Amino acid sequence: MFDNLSDRLEKSFKLLKGQGKITEINVAETLKDIRRALLDADVNFKIAKKFTDDVKVKALGQDVLSAVKPGQMMVKIVKDELAELMGGTFADIKLENKPAVILMSGLQGSGKTTFSGKLANMLKSKKGRHPLLVACDVYRPAAIDQLKVLGEQIKVPVYTEEGNLDPVKIAKAAIQHAKANGNDVVIVDTAGRLAVDEQMMNEISAVKKAINPDEILFVVDSMTGQDAVNTAKEFNDRLDFDGVVLTKLDGDTRGGAALSIRAVVEKPIKFVGTGEKVDALDVFHPDRMADRILGMGDIVSLVEKAQEQFDEEEAKRLQKKLQKNTFDFNDFLKQISQIKKMGNLKDVMGMIPGMGKALKGMDIDDDAFKHIEAIIYSMTPAERENPSLINGGRRKRIANGSGTDIQEVNRLLKQFSETRKMMRMVSQGKNVQRMMSGMQ
Ligand code: GDP
Repeated sequence: MFDNLSDRLEKSFKLLKGQGKITEINVAETLKDIRRALLDADVNFKIAKKFTDDVKVKALGQDVLSAVKPGQMMVKIVKDELAELMGGTFADIKLENKPAVILMSGLQGSGKTTFSGKLANMLKSKKGRHPLLVACDVYRPAAIDQLKVLGEQIKVPVYTEEGNLDPVKIAKAAIQHAKANGNDVVIVDTAGRLAVDEQMMNEISAVKKAINPDEILFVVDSMTGQDAVNTAKEFNDRLDFDGVVLTKLDGDTRGGAALSIRAVVEKPIKFVGTGEKVDALDVFHPDRMADRILGMGDIVSLVEKAQEQFDEEEAKRLQKKLQKNTFDFNDFLKQISQIKKMGNLKDVMGMIPGMGKALKGMDIDDDAFKHIEAIIYSMTPAERENPSLINGGRRKRIANGSGTDIQEVNRLLKQFSETRKMMRMVSQGKNVQRMMSGMQ
């Protein structure tokens, strides 16, 4: 996502290279480039203009810091402004009431049903809540089935009333059902249309009035660019929603919607959908997204993702094994499965500063570990625990068994022994960097 915009902005900063300080004259070209980059990313013209005007004021008003180069300073100013444009701070959803009622709105195909399932899953698995999903898309039986399938997959109950064509009645009954059954969050999925129409707006307004939701979320496909912004405006005028969910940010979106919606409707983006799978959902943090757009990586999200998967007991066990130098291939397999749990490998790696660009165009997927795992699975338990057993004959057997070749097996064994050495040094608190530079 945002690859193009990231590249363009980076180039614009380069124009300031070699300049001693930012002046009205030397910054003009950079600002023009930034504006063009934003317009090409489908950012609304007025927003792009205001953005560069604000950046200019800030850039010229900066005290000259000898330690910071103008290019770097510009990156920081643009980063802060981008974050500000997307809402500044993180905005959570209101879940205090029991049950908390969340109403979905948006056009057909925007990803409402998928998001309803993702949100239920997130609230259940990360917040220990007991959600109830409600199917109010009464016109499309397929949509009701889709929600049922999702519910089964994530083990969340789905409230439906076959044959009832009145979404207001269904939504009200669902809330009663939630109260009676201990569901503390009710997520109401509604019908969308291909375009904004009066009947749809009347219907969702009636549901809103009847159930008085704690949170109305507007779901929109980020690939639709400026249209997304216009639709957001129309829905907001009618519903006065609380937050925006941008879906399909994993696709080839230019980013215009993410950058313009907040400024146009003055409502925060709260979540972003990053794939079709049920766990492909991120809470939206404007500052982290700004870092990502500028290709600075998103180290905070990465650490949080890692922490979610982090098992303290396991870490202590590993620490002991490392100190005793008994870290083996079974531990290695566990580590791989932990990394895989963090999500799509390319996304995870893309959060590491500087990696986003390096990964562009590279074909990395969750299969990246397949060969490594196959090789380890082809080892006997004794070999996994004691890799020094693996002589030439055994290597050949392992290569055959895993469908790889002997070079690949050799490479893995070498990497493993180097990793083990390195991890041992770290666990003993030695300064690895110094050691490595001494080795060169
Ligand atoms: P609804 O009509 O608003 O309920 O939309 P759906 O939930 O049925 O989604 C429409 C299509 O978009 C489906 O094929 C979804 O799998 C897909 N979709 C939804 N969210 C995302 C996302 O974040 N990324 C991707 N790649 N696809 C998504």
